[in-house]
Amino acid sequence: MLRSAVREGTAFGVRAKEIMDRGELVSDEIMGGVVEERLRADDTHNRGYILDGFPRTVGQAEMLGRITRANPLDLVLDLVVPTDVVLERLAARRVCVDCATNYSVDAPPRYGWVCDNCGGEVVQRADDTPDAIRKRLDLYERETAPLIAWYRDRDLLVAVDGLGTADEVTQRLAAAIDERRQQ
Ligand SMILES: [Zn+2]
Repeated sequence: MLRSAVREGTAFGVRAKEIMDRGELVSDEIMGGVVEERLRADDTHNRGYILDGFPRTVGQAEMLGRITRANPLDLVLDLVVPTDVVLERLAARRVCVDCATNYSVDAPPRYGWVCDNCGGEVVQRADDTPDAIRKRLDLYERETAPLIAWYRDRDLLVAVDGLGTADEVTQRLAAAIDERRQQ
């Protein structure tokens, strides 16, 4: 979402680009602006939407609550995977530099390390090294794990078992969403 806001040159995309070009992290405020801009588009009203990997902090969750006040979230999914499996998956992960499609050494693109979707180069992310992964997991425990209790308190959280094949996990996620829509 951030990358496409930068590419399209939206108001917050331009501000985000300035910050990223300086090698700094985009603040919650700017990230919130990018999300708000995107959620204004018609497709989110007609079909609904899924935010993947956002919010990552309680501060961002509070901001998202303000952004979506008129049309609140239906459901928050917590994909539960043991740490050792997370480490294996990240070590095996490869990503398209152009469209960010994920692959892995076990599920590579069809032709060499060239993206099936866009023909971009598929590489290991610079931050998927063991050291960087450990730092991200520490950050997750400190900043993101508190969201589990935060959303549980608001009766939005459903935990989904993230072990198994991609199809199995997808079915569990779809079932959790269907169940909530019937309530
Ligand atoms: Zn691609």
